[in-house]
Amino acid sequence: MNNYDDKQEKSLVLVKPDGVQRALIGEAIKRYEQCGLKLVAMKMVIPTRDQALKHYSVDPDWAFKTGTKSIESWKAKGLTPPTEDPIELAENVRKQLVDFLSSGPVVAMVWQGMNAIGVIRKITGGTEPLTSVPGTIRGDYTIDSYRASDTDKRAVRNIIHASGSVEEADKEMALWFKPEEILNYRLIAEEIIYDANLDGILE
Ligand code: GDP
Ligand code: MG
Repeated sequence: MNNYDDKQEKSLVLVKPDGVQRALIGEAIKRYEQCGLKLVAMKMVIPTRDQALKHYSVDPDWAFKTGTKSIESWKAKGLTPPTEDPIELAENVRKQLVDFLSSGPVVAMVWQGMNAIGVIRKITGGTEPLTSVPGTIRGDYTIDSYRASDTDKRAVRNIIHASGSVEEADKEMALWFKPEEILNYRLIAEEIIYDANLDGILE
């Protein structure tokens, strides 16, 4: 099935410890909820370091991709990256992310709907707060930068984690939720969002 038509697509979202501390749980939920996605699982947890490490290890290519992306982002701003080795850079980032994610409560959620992964990432905004655009959660509520976070040797504070692909979402959902915690139910609003003919409205 083409993803465009997959109304069952699911995305794993975490409101990270900075989002919880900054009272942005409700704002994040509101934005995902009001776009038409269906909330199918939610819990509040204080992640262990082991769980945080597993979360940032679900994609085997994560280190290479993240390191490469980060080096490009430094250079695009005319800055010199802290290292030219993508793996070394990403491993430092991963350790900082584990410290950060296990530093306090997070809210884990699963959102379901057509293009859930892409829609959630659009609403969430780009990874680095400095360049995430206004109107997105990260663009509206964060001011951090890689430069600042790398200087202070800490994770960048960008409020939300959101799955980047169907494969990532599947692995992340399995890490944060038992299968029975992800609910299967009908949301009335899905009729106006997805139904082809809308018969019944004027009955
Ligand atoms: P996301 O899917 O938009 O969250 O971004 P990624 O999956 O690429 O990276 C995961 C997390 O790692 C991000 O949310 C950031 O917290 C962090 N991160 C990614 N790239 C960098 C970087 O270049 N520098 C720093 N300090 N953190 C980064
Ligand atoms: Mg990601």
